[in-house]
Amino acid sequence: RQELYQALLDKPARTVDGVDIRLMMNAGLVVDMSQLEACGADGIGLFRTELQFMVASTFPRADRQEELYREVIDKADGKSILFRTLDIGGDKVLPYFRNAPNEENPAMGWRAIRLTLDRAGLFRTQIRALLRAARGQKLSLMLPMVTEASEIEQARDLIEREKSHLERHGYGLPSEISVGIMLEVPSLIWQLDRLKGLVDFISVGSNDLFQFIMATDRGNPVVGDRFDVLSCTFLRALRHIVRDCERLSIPLSLCGEMASRPLTALALVGIGFRTLSMSAASIGPVKACLRDVRLDDLTERLNTAIDHAERQDIRAFLKDYANESG
Ligand code: PEP
Ligand code: MG
Repeated sequence: RQELYQALLDKPARTVDGVDIRLMMNAGLVVDMSQLEACGADGIGLFRTELQFMVASTFPRADRQEELYREVIDKADGKSILFRTLDIGGDKVLPYFRNAPNEENPAMGWRAIRLTLDRAGLFRTQIRALLRAARGQKLSLMLPMVTEASEIEQARDLIEREKSHLERHGYGLPSEISVGIMLEVPSLIWQLDRLKGLVDFISVGSNDLFQFIMATDRGNPVVGDRFDVLSCTFLRALRHIVRDCERLSIPLSLCGEMASRPLTALALVGIGFRTLSMSAASIGPVKACLRDVRLDDLTERLNTAIDHAERQDIRAFLKDYANESG
């Protein structure tokens, strides 16, 4: 199998009927970047900046952050990177973060964009470091755990302020800055029209989105296997997002764990995703699987199965489908 993946390294993730799927890699530390070339990903679809904060023993200073981001950009060698701004709180704890509240429900508490909008100094320091590190190059910023469009406006406002600050002080800026969001809170599903013009792209964080749609703690093994990401309920929600983003021409990807397994990746392209971001080790297996598939046929049969799911088990359907396609 490894030899097969190696042989596919320079080949596109192109389906039998000629549709190209972009396969991106998830990363979070400078060391991950060495895998980008080795796995053949088209870029970094999710860079979890909080990981560098989690392995530190105190808040990394601005110059240290800048240095790390610059190293990541250099190592990407021109490939695109979506830098997710700090996603701390919830399951991502910083031991040195004093004044963190004791919360009964941290997953639904003071985390990610909520925290960084309240502690704007933290957010602005990170944005400044990213702007400086990407001077003269394209920079993509991705906001985590957005619940309402107004949070994007506030974040954009802070980003603008940092840009003007750097400009005033004579620093070069990135050649282009795009600002997108993670869609991981269900409330956003009904605000997509409102997001047009406010975001340059959306990436579905299916780990959190699934947790919130199914009201099932992602870190709790007691309920971990109770519901399936390939349930008709969840796939219908994802399909709704794909269709709305298509209608609104908002570039869309998905970067949760479900992109990392061939069978679930198959479901995602079947309902219309064309960009998936996953662990480096998954690029080969997912690519090999997609290259065996006729997408027009999969799309039609999968959508029928989802529409009539009362009579069908989607996971079983996909397993049969994958076996038939080789
Ligand atoms: C997600 O929620 O799907 C996601 C990609 O972000 P994280 O797993 O880091 O919360
Ligand atoms: Mg998440």
